[in-house]
Formats: sequence, structure tokens, C-alpha cells
Amino acid sequence: MLKGPAGFAEKPFVHFFLRIITILAVAGSGAVGCKPPAKKSSQKDGARASSGQAGGSMDATSLGSPDRYLFNADAARTISPLVDAYQKPGYKDDPETYSSEFGPFRTFSEKFLNDVMALEDLTPGRKIEVEVMDADYLNAFADGFQRVVVTLGALRAVEAVPMLAVVCHELAHSSKNHSQKRVAYEEVELKAETDVFYNEAEAYFGKTYDKAKKRYKHDLAAYTQVRKLWDALTPRLAEVSKRNESEADILGGMICGELGMPPEDYERGHREFMTLGDQLDAQNSKPGRIRSAADLKDGDVGQGTVSDLFQLLFPRDSHPSNAERDAQLKRTRDVYAAHFDKTRQLYKDWLREYERTTKGMGLTGFDLRELSRAQSKSSIVFDGEAVEIFRPTSCGR
Ligand SMILES: [Zn+2]
Repeated sequence: MLKGPAGFAEKPFVHFFLRIITILAVAGSGAVGCKPPAKKSSQKDGARASSGQAGGSMDATSLGSPDRYLFNADAARTISPLVDAYQKPGYKDDPETYSSEFGPFRTFSEKFLNDVMALEDLTPGRKIEVEVMDADYLNAFADGFQRVVVTLGALRAVEAVPMLAVVCHELAHSSKNHSQKRVAYEEVELKAETDVFYNEAEAYFGKTYDKAKKRYKHDLAAYTQVRKLWDALTPRLAEVSKRNESEADILGGMICGELGMPPEDYERGHREFMTLGDQLDAQNSKPGRIRSAADLKDGDVGQGTVSDLFQLLFPRDSHPSNAERDAQLKRTRDVYAAHFDKTRQLYKDWLREYERTTKGMGLTGFDLRELSRAQSKSSIVFDGEAVEIFRPTSCGR
């Protein structure tokens, strides 16, 4: 599905980028542009604009045209079965390692999720693994290898209810093989265009980036040209991503319902997660800080990894805005009710064990002040200041 080893040898740099993009795609919501930075413009209803989201508002009336990718309740009823047949990955595992700590959480939540997957309606015949990513921001994602990954930041700041809502959403991504479908879409259906973009991006980085020194110099004219290609490509990528998100919200609700989680808790949980992310963003925002590539001037010099620079220069609009998310959650109510089984004890088991486990690991809970993004392992430094944007806070999907 992806470029084979021969391609690597021929075009190592192109492969490098493809690898990055693949990892990001595999991560689903994982690493990119989950919440595009707010533009300085006063755009109010730019929910679908690539970098001009109204972000943070829960007002569904600010939506653009959500029906393009949000599911309604009728469509949701036809989503069946809840679990796709397992698709054999056409790509190799990412060598990235997760934290070997937090064993009690991983053990408890893995067993819990596998009990969930064994429920009658799910029965996927697959085993879920849980990993903790050593990162300060708030996020959780499902990768293409049946892993549900939670950041350490989320584990420290998120209580049992929002965490379960998010975890069920991730389980839905996994159940529907969203990561694999997304990779397939980008690498097969859009191959011709993505190849053109990656070739141009390779040439651009070849000119502006010193790999040995990890030093980048912004070339505004050249960047603008490559960015045009990206901007033409990314709405179609976003369409697929957002539809996956929508499906994951619905299926995640069905799954949580099966566990005995009351529907209002599912909605509240997601809202709390979004709110926490917004609070963390606000806490970390500094006036004058570079928020997007649009803030870079010709000749600006920065220091960072290709991966981080790539995310800064070519952000993805992969997730619905908070307002769209909120609208989607409301739409899941009917389907949720149909799946809500209040006799099930799994929800209560989760509440009890999550609290016990996180306390046992000394995780403080709800202290955002301790989550400093300045401590993140990756960043780009422009003019001596770390640029921390496109971190997937307030995403949790
Ligand atoms: Zn998601």
C-alpha cells in the first residue's frame, strides 16, 4: 500500500516525509492540527476553513455545512456491524515506543477494553492494547495496530467520566479500522496528487532545512508555492477525517451505552475533555508567539525536527471544531438511547478502577498548571522561543 523499500532507496527524503505523514495518518487524530490555530481575522463561521476555525464555541449555529460529513441519527442506525472485519495492515509498525511506565493503568484499561470488545454487539476477535505516550498535552488516539494511546497529560488531568467517553470514541476508531482506511485513501486514491505534493515538499525542505543542524530558514515565496498544493489537497483529506470522527462519536456512544454509561455522562465527558483542552491552550498562549506558518516572515530561522516543522508548515484540518463536535454529540442521542443498557456494571467498574489506579500511580488529577507544554519533547524554536502550536490539545479523539 505504501512505497516499498525500493522507493526508499531512490528517494530517501520523499520517503521520510511519506513516513511522517503515514505515522500521522496511522495515529488518526494523533499528532497533527487537531485544533488549528485561530486566525487573526474575525471570521465567525469558518468552521470548515482550513485554519480559521471559530474554535471553542459550542454554538451550533456557527456551523458551515456540517451535513457534508456529520452523520444524522437515521444514518447512524444503518451503521452496521459495529465492528468492521479486521483489515490486515499493509504497512509496518511504527518503531516509536511508548512509556514503559504506568503499568497499572495499562493493565486495568486493557482488560477493561477487551471485556468491552467481547460484548455481544462488538465481538471483533481482536485484542486492544493500551499505551501511555509521554507527552504533556491532552490527547488520546487509536492507531492502525489496534492500540489505544493516551497521553500522560490526559492521564494526569482527566477524570474517569471524560476519559471513558474519549476511550470509547477511540475504540470506535479502532473497530472501524479508520486509520487503515485513511492511509489507503491517501496512498491509493489520492496517490497522484500526494506524490506531486511530497516531491515539491522534498525539494523545499532540501533547500531550506539543514538536517545536521536541524536548522530551518523560511523562504516565503517558495513556501507559498508548495503550500498551495497542500491547500488544494487538504480539504479532501479533512473530509475523510471528519467523517471518521463523526462515525467514532456515534459508535463511541453506542459502545458507552452498552457499558451502562448514562447518555448525559457521555456528552458531558466529551465536553469536559474539550473544555480542559481549551483551558490548557489558554494557559499556554503567549502574545506574540507564532501561531501558524502565516506568522513567519521571509528569512525567519528556526530550529526543530522535520516532523515538527512539517506540522507547522502543512497543518491538517482533520477534526471537527468544538461546535461541530457538539452538534454531532447531540445527534447521537437517539442511537445512544437504543444502546443504553443500564443493567450493565462495566461503567461503574470503570469509575471505581480508574480512580483507584490513577491515585495509586500518584497522578494528581485536574492540575493543568503542572502540564507545561514547554516541557514537551518536541518543539521548534524561533528567535529563542519555543513554538508550541499544532499540539493536539483539546482534541482527545
Ligand atoms: Zn477521533
